[in-house]
Amino acid sequence: MIIAIDGPAASGKGTIARRLAAHFGLPHLDTGLIYRATARTVLDWGDRLDDIQRAVAAARGLALTDFDEERLRGAQMGEAASVVAAMPQVRAELIDLQKRFAARPGGAVLDGRDIGTVVCPQADVKIFVTASPEVRAQRRALELHGRGERTAYEDVLADIRRRDERDSHRSTAPLKQAADAVLLDTSDLDIEGAFAAARAIVEERRALAK
Ligand code: C5P
Repeated sequence: MIIAIDGPAASGKGTIARRLAAHFGLPHLDTGLIYRATARTVLDWGDRLDDIQRAVAAARGLALTDFDEERLRGAQMGEAASVVAAMPQVRAELIDLQKRFAARPGGAVLDGRDIGTVVCPQADVKIFVTASPEVRAQRRALELHGRGERTAYEDVLADIRRRDERDSHRSTAPLKQAADAVLLDTSDLDIEGAFAAARAIVEERRALAK
């Protein structure tokens, strides 16, 4: 079973994907980390983020075992990731890696922006997770504070709006709900509520497929 989870930053998609993977005994890939790692490598090389050739070279050399999550999770890397993620050449480099992960025997859970539309259009279950920008900014600010990053709520909200704009309006694989995805708005749900709702969607789809 392949489960595709898409949605904007801090919508809860990562937590939902992780919980679903644990519940159904499937491997999980957070595809945001791939774009974050690409951006991190370009910066580590001392190159500019808008240097397409260097971003492509960074994407080409990437392996799924490379991820140092601690270095990749911060707000700055999210913003940097969305810059390289807007380059079609970078996305083309990274697609096979993701498709191979999804093709594992038994299936997988992948979360990102274009899983249901581009990476796994054949997914058995597609969920588009969303929440209002204000709720997402509150969650992200709390998470960043937990990591010791002191960022004002207004700055987090501005970052979220900027990333939504860039991710939704890029020419290749923009963030959008797949026609056959189920919409899950987590604005008024806590983690347990969001997970329960997502699990119910998966179980319903599975029952329909039988
Ligand atoms: O999900 P996360 O916040 O880690 O993603 C960081 C950035 O990577 C996103 O803002 C987006 O630009 C990009 N991304 C993408 N496609 C994916 C996953 C992430 O373009 N499947």
